Amino acid sequence: MKKIQMVDLKGQYQGIKEQVNTSIAQILDSSAYINGPEVHALQKEMEDYLGVKHMIPCANGTDALQIAMMGLGLERGDEVITADFTFAATVEVIALLQLTPVLVDVEPDTFNIDPKAIEKAITPRTKAIVPVHLFGQCANMDVILEIAKKHNLYVIEDNAQAIGASYIGADGTKQKAGTLGHVSATSFFPSKNLGCYGDGGAIFTNDDALAHTLRGIVNHGMYERYHHDVVGVNSRLDSIQAAVLRAKLPHLDAYNQKRRTAALKYSMALGNHNDIVTPKMPICCASETCVCDSHVFHQYTLQIKSGKRDALVQHLNEKDIPCGVYYPIPLHLQKAYTDTRYKEEDFPVTNQLVQEVISLPMHTELGDEQITFITTTILEFLNR
Ligand SMILES: *Cc1c(COP(=O)(O)O)cnc(C)c1O
Repeated sequence: MKKIQMVDLKGQYQGIKEQVNTSIAQILDSSAYINGPEVHALQKEMEDYLGVKHMIPCANGTDALQIAMMGLGLERGDEVITADFTFAATVEVIALLQLTPVLVDVEPDTFNIDPKAIEKAITPRTKAIVPVHLFGQCANMDVILEIAKKHNLYVIEDNAQAIGASYIGADGTKQKAGTLGHVSATSFFPSKNLGCYGDGGAIFTNDDALAHTLRGIVNHGMYERYHHDVVGVNSRLDSIQAAVLRAKLPHLDAYNQKRRTAALKYSMALGNHNDIVTPKMPICCASETCVCDSHVFHQYTLQIKSGKRDALVQHLNEKDIPCGVYYPIPLHLQKAYTDTRYKEEDFPVTNQLVQEVISLPMHTELGDEQITFITTTILEFLNR
């Protein structure tokens, strides 16, 4: 059996090697290293794929979030509500811009931001909500967009983990994650569902005026060469990274399907154990032919009950099975983000999840033999 990896980027590369190598060689010859024709072509292809008017490429997903917030003109002291259970980048940029992050609890079945907690946290200073589509599944956007409309708030989607996923609205319409709010941010970090071979990111919006503003901000606030109308940043995408993304984009749906197939196999093997809660997904996804795309499994994350999570992590490590705990500490308990407004009883779900979650190897190259080895090792451990 091939050594199990948390993410197998080398295996995936074998399938697109020729195209990637050829494109990179052409870029080296062309010397259009930043914002070259490859970047413009990627922009067009991604706008078409997502069904969104504007993609603004930038240097990474954290920048994408920051630039989105700068473009909306949020000001010092404005409150921005986001999830307590996410990667720190989301809250980091809010704090960095001297906005006030307001962390709220998540829902127990999807791990996504809880709309009821959002409503409770709204004050006259609230200006925006940042739902994170965690682990590859959209937050409850119908309700979040309704709350935003009612209170006149911006919705900034953190779509770093759900590129290619769809959101099925209450009215049955299907829309791609990252096209639902006023603006969205994604990351092309190598291990994301659509990853390049370095850092990369992008901002997406259907708003023409906002898109124009954002295109200046990523390039030192310039709309005309050497005229700096607003304070900007330097955040651009390398042509080489764009070439990698262009090679992968036509395969993204198939890559996500492979992740779902692996997830389904995990859930079939583990779904009946009393100490295990498998990830929630729509009923239709129980069929391998399901095309609803509502979960693209950036992570496959179990909850382990009976206090056995940490022992299981150790056991899997001993058996050479990689796994991860995303995330081990709630953001509201991180030193950098403590706030006297937080009360422990406001975070029951996050506080429990950090004790129980474990993410299993998840990528496009997982074999049946590997999945069986992983699931039997887990079951043997929990049953002994
Ligand atoms: C990866 C990630 C980011 C940041 O992306 P980078 O490209 O690493 O800067 C932001 N938010 C979430 C939820 C992420 O998973």
